[in-house]
Amino acid sequence: MTDSLALRPLQIPDCLASVGLGWHPLLMRLHKQLTALASDYRVESIKEKFGGLRVSVADRFDADGEFDGDWADAASPLIQAAETMSRTICEYCGAPGQPRTRADRDGGWIKTVCEQCHPVRRPGTLPLRLTTEEQAAIADHADELGLSTSDYIAQAAARQATQWQHERNDLHKIAERRGTTLKQMLQRGILTDGTP
Ligand SMILES: [Zn+2]
Repeated sequence: MTDSLALRPLQIPDCLASVGLGWHPLLMRLHKQLTALASDYRVESIKEKFGGLRVSVADRFDADGEFDGDWADAASPLIQAAETMSRTICEYCGAPGQPRTRADRDGGWIKTVCEQCHPVRRPGTLPLRLTTEEQAAIADHADELGLSTSDYIAQAAARQATQWQHERNDLHKIAERRGTTLKQMLQRGILTDGTP
C-alpha cells in the first residue's frame, strides 16, 4: 500500500471538530498523555453525550496478537479523568460550566455550558442568542456602568420598548390624521415623514 494517509493513525487532533471548542484544550492534554503511553494510539470516536465528553480508543495487541492489558489499564483512567472534567467545562467557550438542560429547544437535551452560553427561554420570552462580539460589547458597557450583564440587557430592552411605545403613539396620531391605521402604514412602508 502506498497511501500513507490510510496508515496514519486517527488521533485526537484529527477528531477535535467532533466536539465544541471549549473542550479542545482538555482533549489536547489527553492526547499528550496518551502519546506518552503509545505514540501510535488510535481513536475510535470522540463525541458528546448527555453533556459529557466520550472518548473511545482502539484496543492494542502485541506482536503475538495478545491483548495489551497494560495499555488499557493505563489509558482508561486518563480518559475517564478527561470525561469527568468535561462536565465542569463549557463545551462552547471553555469557561467553568455544568450540565444543563437546553431551554431553547424541546426535548430536554443536556449540554455542559457556562452561564453565558446557556440560551435561556422562560415562558413568554424569546430565546436570547448573542454573538461573541455582542456579548463582549455588552459585558464591556455593563461593566463601565457598574451593572450586571443581565441587568444591562433588561434595562436596554425596557428603554427600547418604552421608546417604541412613544413612537407608536405618535405614529397612531399620524395614521389617524391620514385616515388610515398604523398597521396599514407599516405594511405600505409609508413612514417617511410626519406631515399628513
Ligand atoms: Zn460558555
